[in-house]
Amino acid sequence: MPENLDRLLRENTSQAVKEHFWRYRKRDEITIPKGYRIRFMGTGGNPEATFTQTPRTAGFVLEVAGMCMYVDPGPGAVVRAHEMDFDLGSLDAVFVSHGHLDHYGGAEGVVEAMCWAMYTRRGYLLAPSNVLEAEQLVSQYHQGALSYGGYKGGPEVISLQQHKPIKIKNVVINPVLAYHSVMNFGFVMEAGGLTIGYTSDTSYISKYSTPDGIKKVGPTGPIMDLVDIVEVRRDIKETFSKVDVLVANVTTHNVWAHRHITTLGLAHLLQDSKVKLCFLTHFNHSCVKPTDLRPLMAKYVEDVTGVKTVSAYDGAEHDLEALLLGVGVKK
Ligand SMILES: [Zn+2]
Ligand SMILES: [Zn+2]
Repeated sequence: MPENLDRLLRENTSQAVKEHFWRYRKRDEITIPKGYRIRFMGTGGNPEATFTQTPRTAGFVLEVAGMCMYVDPGPGAVVRAHEMDFDLGSLDAVFVSHGHLDHYGGAEGVVEAMCWAMYTRRGYLLAPSNVLEAEQLVSQYHQGALSYGGYKGGPEVISLQQHKPIKIKNVVINPVLAYHSVMNFGFVMEAGGLTIGYTSDTSYISKYSTPDGIKKVGPTGPIMDLVDIVEVRRDIKETFSKVDVLVANVTTHNVWAHRHITTLGLAHLLQDSKVKLCFLTHFNHSCVKPTDLRPLMAKYVEDVTGVKTVSAYDGAEHDLEALLLGVGVKK
């Protein structure tokens, strides 16, 4: 009996390993559709969302003009990809905006899948230099710098630099330096006639008026007494005002504005801009619990600016062309 069991296990294991080898390690490339699609694998940001997964911290995937890039795969990214039946082996690139856990925590698992179980040299890893070198928040192995046995794969690694565009297939990604507590980059992506911006985590409002005079945005407390915004990060406004579609990491409506754009700041940025469609994401836990404030945040931005604004939800997929046509914009 033990011999029979041994034989059964040997044969089944051997067969399963063979199947998995051809499915994951020596597989075929997939053609990415030419359209414009965004998938929100997760929409959470900051510590409470990271450790409660409310909302999930898994970033988003852009599938544009035949190129597929995973942006800010936080903790849970591979689980979300599995739940959403998304093939990580189809990725062309992984973009890590900065070295905070909610943005890089899932990157290594995603890179392993992109590089077909680290058997293949394929895809790009784009990240700031401290994520790659000083802090090595993505391991040397996952940067393709070390190999073990058959695991000789890995991505081509590109260190993000301001105004140094990166071309992947027919898409150009321009890194945009953000204002955060660590080195951080958003981007402006030129993809077949459509321009897509991503703010990542950045401060925006620097001074505002109150009934008691002008105040500087500081790290303490929510902004309750704002009458008008009087000073902002001009370069952030100018850069992102020119895009067609903007993905904004708002975090909250009026708290932590010293590091995040907030919906108060975003409404200012979108005024007199060329933006036609805006997604809110990177929600702090307080936007969801105890009350779901996300629809109201989107309504506030849209009411103030007239720009079509959509609150992202975990698992939501959007066809950008369809949404743009819905707001009367021809691409
Ligand atoms: Zn964040
Ligand atoms: Zn951050």
